[in-house]
Amino acid sequence: MTAAAQFVVALMMVASCSSASAPNQAADGSSPSTAETEGSTTQPTSTLTTSTEPIDAELHPHGIGDVLFADLGNPGVDVTHYDVDVAFDAATGVLEGTVLLSVTATANLEDFSLDAVGLKVDSIVIDGGPAQFELADPELVVTPAAAIAKGDSFEAAITYSTKAQPQQAVTGIANGWFVTPGGTFVMNEPNGARTWLPSNDHPSDKATYRFTIHVPAGLTGIANGVLEQHSINADDETWVWSQADPMATYLIQVITGDYEIIDTLGPNGLALTSVVLRSDRTLMQPLIDGMPEQIAFFEEKFGPYPLSSYGVAVTDSPGGLGMEQQGRPLYSRDDFAADLRDDPRPGLMGASQQYLLSHELSHMWFGDAVTPSVWQDIWLNEGFATYAAWMWSEHVGYRSLAENVDRALRDRQTPGVPTGKPSVERMFEFEEAYGGGAVVLQALRLTIGDDAFFTLLRTWVAENKGTSRTTNDFITLAERVSGADLTAFFDDWLFATSLPDQLPT
Ligand SMILES: [Zn+2]
Repeated sequence: MTAAAQFVVALMMVASCSSASAPNQAADGSSPSTAETEGSTTQPTSTLTTSTEPIDAELHPHGIGDVLFADLGNPGVDVTHYDVDVAFDAATGVLEGTVLLSVTATANLEDFSLDAVGLKVDSIVIDGGPAQFELADPELVVTPAAAIAKGDSFEAAITYSTKAQPQQAVTGIANGWFVTPGGTFVMNEPNGARTWLPSNDHPSDKATYRFTIHVPAGLTGIANGVLEQHSINADDETWVWSQADPMATYLIQVITGDYEIIDTLGPNGLALTSVVLRSDRTLMQPLIDGMPEQIAFFEEKFGPYPLSSYGVAVTDSPGGLGMEQQGRPLYSRDDFAADLRDDPRPGLMGASQQYLLSHELSHMWFGDAVTPSVWQDIWLNEGFATYAAWMWSEHVGYRSLAENVDRALRDRQTPGVPTGKPSVERMFEFEEAYGGGAVVLQALRLTIGDDAFFTLLRTWVAENKGTSRTTNDFITLAERVSGADLTAFFDDWLFATSLPDQLPT
């Protein structure tokens, strides 16, 4: 994710996208001074919330022990596929949904939970028979008619609705379901999927997906993956998308509005499917034209593009949006439109746009293909994407990688939270996960050498794509590839509150 400016969404929520990298600031490597405006709502968070009472952890053990998000994930549950069907009514703000989850039990289950916040559940059917359920935000506790044995697979069909809107998360960044002037989009990271989709909302559980999106006549429904089907009905349209690459819930894309779908080709025949507002079709052409060269650059560094398709999605969200939704990062037109109007040649795009596009593209290797197992490992996403974007910035003639690293290292001289163990409030702060993570990678590169470093990054993706992995997995691989004991290195650079003031020589 890169996020910077404030969202002002449908007058419902003013949310600070603290974090990361205001594009124009990240491009010069300085730490952004993002607005820290607290979110404020002008409406109740949800009129449909059934309960906000904490649930009894003894009765309904919830969460899988994520240090930063204790209530995310669900013991004993491995979702392998989601078949999602949603219709959003812009007049009422109500989302009607059904989801069919294919689940494998990883423990003997008399009941099980899913993550669900602010949802109204109408019915749950398991393998064709009705199931009992209890809504106790942030959990939906389901009791099948008969216990499910460890290793067995079952299907749970959930019919639900919600007043869909963003929530202000503890990270300081709003997430969930957003309404724009011309449609909607979702931005789930890290815990927003559960506000509109009952799910196992944790990055350790990846699944395949099918999305059926109902929109008013004339509009387009978009989701991750490949467009399977489009039908025009009497008074609406149905768009069906299929995502075959395993994906975490925080990377889900659902967009509605007046969009054009643009299919082109990337290196080695890679399918590129982009979506831009129909009114922006000409203006956004440089983004379409620029993808193949950027993909080829990163393939040379990180190995073959690791997913089955790529593209860009440029929405009518307010500016300051960059989210690595799987296979098709999400952007705001406002972060490109003025710049492109001044000079539409892709090679001359500004530093901030170059940073933004390369950062999100590199997440396809680091975050999307290989996903953190727990949220405290967020540097595996953001440190790597920042480092990649700095390589690209140097490649296209903006500030050098070395200078960006030097600036970020200077910013890390004030003791803070360790890059490898961030707090929930600072997990998306530039100093630690983003610039700080990139500093760790540069220090590692200087310690083990260029050959071992790039072999490590390529092996990391080649061996782990489609899965979720931990920082310890990365350290183990770094030691295997380099043949060095790196315990002291990672203690000094990744897990220290105070960093060395000089890079290794
Ligand atoms: Zn990012």
